[in-house]
Amino acid sequence: MSSSTSDGPLTGSCHCGRISITIPSKPSRINQCHCTVCYKLGALWGYFPKSSVTIIEKDGATRNKYLREDLAPEEFESISFDSCSVCGTLTNWSRAPAKDTDEHAKMGVNMRVFGEVEKVMGDVPREIEYC
Ligand SMILES: [Zn+2]
Repeated sequence: MSSSTSDGPLTGSCHCGRISITIPSKPSRINQCHCTVCYKLGALWGYFPKSSVTIIEKDGATRNKYLREDLAPEEFESISFDSCSVCGTLTNWSRAPAKDTDEHAKMGVNMRVFGEVEKVMGDVPREIEYC
C-alpha cells in the first residue's frame, strides 16, 4: 500500500491547550519506550531534530521539567521530561539546557498530543525500544 501521507506540519496541544507543539511531519517511527521513566509516563515518542520542533507556552503555562535522579547526569545526558504546568500532559523530552549545545540534537515529542494516534499517525511503524 502506498503511503498517502500528505506529510506537512502537524500541530497538537496538551489537554488544557496552553502548550502547543508543531512538528514538521509525521515521525518515521513511533516508539513506545519501555525505559523505567517512559513506561510510567505512558509516552509514545516520535523523534525529531530539536531545531525542527516549535513549542509555544501561553496563558501562564510553562513546562515542568523532570530530570531523572536515578542515573548520574552524564549517564543520561541530562534529559528532561517536560509536562504542562497546568494540566500535567507529558509533551516532550529534550536535553537540559546545560547540555543542549547542538541545535540539531534529537528530541522526543509525545505523539499523543496530536490526538488519537491510530487515526492521526496511520501506518507509521511502531516499535518498543529504549529512547
Ligand atoms: Zn496543559
